[in-house]
Amino acid sequence: MSQKIVAVQSDDDYFFVEAHYPSVTANTVDSCFYDFVSDVIHLTSDLGTSDYLWDTVLHEYGHYVADIYNITDFWAANHGPTQHQTDTFGKLVGPLLSWSEGWADYYSVVSQQMYAPYQLIDSASNPTNIADYKYKSRNIESDNTYLYGESNEWVIARVLYDMDDNGTSESWDNISYGGKGLFEKMQEAVPFLSILDTLSDFMDSLYDNESDDFGPLLSYYYIAENPTLPINNTTATYFAPRFEWDAGGGDPSVTTI
Ligand SMILES: [Zn+2]
Repeated sequence: MSQKIVAVQSDDDYFFVEAHYPSVTANTVDSCFYDFVSDVIHLTSDLGTSDYLWDTVLHEYGHYVADIYNITDFWAANHGPTQHQTDTFGKLVGPLLSWSEGWADYYSVVSQQMYAPYQLIDSASNPTNIADYKYKSRNIESDNTYLYGESNEWVIARVLYDMDDNGTSESWDNISYGGKGLFEKMQEAVPFLSILDTLSDFMDSLYDNESDDFGPLLSYYYIAENPTLPINNTTATYFAPRFEWDAGGGDPSVTTI
């Protein structure tokens, strides 16, 4: 399934990845992960009975795709969508980790959306939970918890999802690249012989190459501030202008942070 989506997005052939299940290594650290040195996915023995089975497998496959195309770097760490990762890991690692994990979260969700109806049972206890918009019970379109800006993997996943989807009903989402279009733009953003490290690096590339208005999207997710003064389209005076902004940015209807 995830192999199919990478083929659709990249026009490349399917990719096969080695996976160890149950993995002695993963069980020892009690965590599923992708080893980017040996290109192996490690899965814990209890994953088979978990509601998160496919969410996790496809998340790890997303890391493999990122590795092949250099669209994220990697950092070994216990992490989750509720974390402010710069608070936890510092400025150097936090945004890099969020970018890497947010991509994998996004990849897991869109893989399930695109192909799950044909072959996937997302949850052992809830077989109807198929092809939904959820990752670990979070609706990627509406779960506004933990909006920690660029330092939160759930925010990264949601930004990528909004850039992918046709968000005509969302005032903050004017971007609709589709999965293939977004993947191409991410590849374009990869520096020569290097790796795309953070959302900021990706945005730099988009601002260089696209004329789209990314302000509402970045502000909605507390990544960009929301300018309030001078008021838009006001007349300039000879007084030196005063600048003010809401540090958090974001849509006023979003109260959870
Ligand atoms: Zn991960």
